[in-house]
Amino acid sequence: MNITSGQYIASAVKIDQYPEGELHEIAFMGRSNVGKSSLINSLSRRNGLARTSGSPGKTQTLNFYKLMAKLSDTDKRDFFLVDLPGYGYARTGKSNRQQWAKFIEEYLLKSPRLQLVCQLIDIRHDPMDSDISAYKWLIENDVPVQVIATKADKLNRMAVKKNVEAIRKGLGMKGDHIIAYSSEKGLGRPELLDVIGQILLK
Ligand code: GDP
Repeated sequence: MNITSGQYIASAVKIDQYPEGELHEIAFMGRSNVGKSSLINSLSRRNGLARTSGSPGKTQTLNFYKLMAKLSDTDKRDFFLVDLPGYGYARTGKSNRQQWAKFIEEYLLKSPRLQLVCQLIDIRHDPMDSDISAYKWLIENDVPVQVIATKADKLNRMAVKKNVEAIRKGLGMKGDHIIAYSSEKGLGRPELLDVIGQILLK
């Protein structure tokens, strides 16, 4: 499976702004600066599809990108990659955080096409309170979640293993697999594409 095209489609803060259609959606969430834009660009191999960094916490909309997945020579499928605003950025203040919660939660609970939320956590750190509460909220609300440990190239192989386990423990995860990902080196990309490919076949 590979991604053969990707383009920005729409930004939304409420339901009537979501793009129409029946395409499956895969959403990405995480703390600001976790490496979400880099991962989206690396996954789609389209640099600049999602904006990278500079001012954390800046994107305050759901951003929809239409990607085409090539599952085999004859099977190509479009899906939406949905970039959710970063959470847990201290300087946005409390009221902003509440607003975040409201329209994100609305999307996560009400989009009938949402198939998976990829929750990104920086591999170098234990999950923070905002990561833990987001993860628990997803589980409690039966939203399928794939945890991804980002910036894996910053650690050696032993430390990757150790920190992935620390993330698992910090989140109180059961057996589910965590993907260690590096946008710089492409590590974890085939694995994540595989997870997405399985979903698109459903
Ligand atoms: P976002 O705020 O979550 O969208 O994070 P960005 O994608 O903008 O990345 C934040 C910072 O982390 C930038 O300086 C990136 O260059 C860096 N970064 C992101 N992903 C990786 C990675 O896989 N490896 C390394 N070494 N740095 C990364």
